[in-house]
Amino acid sequence: MSEREQLIYLNGELVPREEAKISVYDHGFLYGDGVFEGIRAYDGRIFKLDEHVDRLYDSAKAIMLEIPMTKEKMKEAIIETVRANELRDAYIRVVVSRGEGDLGLDPEKCPEPNVVIIAEPMEPLYGDLYEKGIEVITASVRRIPPDALDPKIKSCNYLNNILAKIQANLAGADEAIMLDHEGYVCEGTGDNVFVVEDGTVYTPPEDTILRGITRATVMEICEELGIPVEEKRITLGELYAADEVFLTGTAAEVAPVRKVDGRKIGEECPGPITRRIMEAFRELTKKEGTPVYEE
Ligand code: PMP
Repeated sequence: MSEREQLIYLNGELVPREEAKISVYDHGFLYGDGVFEGIRAYDGRIFKLDEHVDRLYDSAKAIMLEIPMTKEKMKEAIIETVRANELRDAYIRVVVSRGEGDLGLDPEKCPEPNVVIIAEPMEPLYGDLYEKGIEVITASVRRIPPDALDPKIKSCNYLNNILAKIQANLAGADEAIMLDHEGYVCEGTGDNVFVVEDGTVYTPPEDTILRGITRATVMEICEELGIPVEEKRITLGELYAADEVFLTGTAAEVAPVRKVDGRKIGEECPGPITRRIMEAFRELTKKEGTPVYEE
């Protein structure tokens, strides 16, 4: 892709990156009024495409944003964007913003949403840390509670997560884990959290988190491998005392955690169960997915 100009999907057309422009009156820009997805392609196949597109449309429905195309057309557009950029391993960003309106926040003033699809080459997010583990902190800012803005809605307003990420940066950590409004372990700024205790894998329940597609995949992997997996509220003390901790996300994949708030986790990192899950996840990405090119 370095030789060729990057092509961006913008409202039905593939245009060179320099020409992919939207209005400064777009309410996505002015207010974060929009929804998005981050999707991954592995070796020419898009991983969990249906699940991501379903979640995008669910997020849009929750904010009463009508995406001006069917799910099938959206999937075609995503595939077309990856293909046009001749990518095999890619990170794909789909954004549907409210569109151009006036300076008031009323979405009824925005007749036409903007649909943008960006595909780029992608290397592993944490580089060689998959073999060593990442360091995380817990953020002092709490995850927005579901009765204020439901984290299931993957909206373009990520300020809550960004505040937590700033704390991670200031602490020199790789990622921040947010607690929910009651003080239980919730999720990372762009990933879900798992802990392993006495051979069982636990993850916080769905009510306060983004329902991660990688999280669901990892829970299925655990079931296939015969590793007990449960949803349960996790306290900070349980997180510190866990045998193993790992994060999951489209960008992060399955990322082992070495330290939480300066406390070393477990004996070795990745721990044995995390390692089995990482390997099984890697295998799955090799064999599953919607083909971009003729096979
Ligand atoms: N939580 C948050 C806040 C996220 O932004 C993400 C990334 N989409 C995740 C969890 C992980 O979700 P997924 O596995 O679907 O990428």
